[in-house]
Amino acid sequence: MLLGVVAPDGRVAFIQPPTRIDAAFVERARSLGRPERRFRFSSPCVETACPQWTGAGCGVVDHVLEEITPTSFAATALPACAIRRWCRWHAQRGAAACAVCPRVIADTGGTMTYVDSIRDAESASATMAPGT
Ligand code: SF4
Repeated sequence: MLLGVVAPDGRVAFIQPPTRIDAAFVERARSLGRPERRFRFSSPCVETACPQWTGAGCGVVDHVLEEITPTSFAATALPACAIRRWCRWHAQRGAAACAVCPRVIADTGGTMTYVDSIRDAESASATMAPGT
């Protein structure tokens, strides 16, 4: 399922409704680079079949929440996301997961499986000098 698109500000913009994708979409997306850098996909959590499974839950969301402090938010301000009822991250960490979720970009191509897109953009602008 295609769940969202990475917007120019680096956040995932969730699409409504999520769209089932086919092999042609995957092929085209791959021809333009790593799809997960530009899109957010969802698929059923496979639990013990996934290397991120800790034995009790998804290690990725726990790790993300150790690195990113969710800003205060009201439950009504959560991203409009169609999979919340079934989402592993939400079941595990509640609204805090949804507060940081749009910042997470998967499959960076290196050894890291995801990055915080907003922090990366902030540190890039903090280290850049005008005129360079
Ligand atoms: S963590 Fe929240 S916003 Fe992200 S996919 Fe799950 S329900 Fe949707």
